[in-house]
Amino acid sequence: MTVVEQLIELQEVDGRIRELEHELKDLPRRKALEMARLSGVSADLAAAKVNLQQISDKIASFQADADALAAKVQDLKIKQASLTSNKEYLQFSTQIDFVSHDLETTELNKMTVEDSKPSAEARIKDAQEKYDALKGGVDAVCAELDERLALVKEELDAAMAERAEKAAAVTDARSRLYYERLRTKRWPVVVPLTHTGVCDGCHLVQPPSVSQLVDANAKNAELGRPQAVVACTMCGRMLYRG
Ligand SMILES: [Zn+2]
Repeated sequence: MTVVEQLIELQEVDGRIRELEHELKDLPRRKALEMARLSGVSADLAAAKVNLQQISDKIASFQADADALAAKVQDLKIKQASLTSNKEYLQFSTQIDFVSHDLETTELNKMTVEDSKPSAEARIKDAQEKYDALKGGVDAVCAELDERLALVKEELDAAMAERAEKAAAVTDARSRLYYERLRTKRWPVVVPLTHTGVCDGCHLVQPPSVSQLVDANAKNAELGRPQAVVACTMCGRMLYRG
């Protein structure tokens, strides 16, 4: 196997590693997006629940007021029964009428608020149904993403082990070092020099000397002689005859 072939094998594994690493970063982002879809309907449901609680609180408050007013009426009536003066009796009657009117108003207010309760309850039911329906879908997608994440981690571990083997199999230390240094800046690192003398990485036409070096390298590889690094004059990628 020529040095270029060894490098291309290494590059193939590195290509898979790059994709897996990209996916590894992307999966949590996709999961967060799924969860965010749920937050809108979750907020609607919470708001509907708060609304119903406010209605219930208002009803309870009107009820407490009504109870107090009813007790007051009762109290006034008891006191009135023991009165002897006609003038005082009439004064009490006026007061009883006044408090009774307050009681009536309070009860009417309570009924008005009670009337809004069914629609508030329906709103909760509706929001709950929407939440449940969406949650089912979101949970399923998140479970799939988690599964994929576990698989990607496994695949990445295997690819890293494979990479170590392929890297060790590159027989020319200088070529290997060159490849390792360039791969963080350029991708792919090893590219063909086309028949028209163009670097397949950056598409720059190479001077004839580069073509000659590439051909000499191929010849040396054939003869089992040491092979040199032939780099693109523009991007530095490692060239071979394609
Ligand atoms: Zn180039």
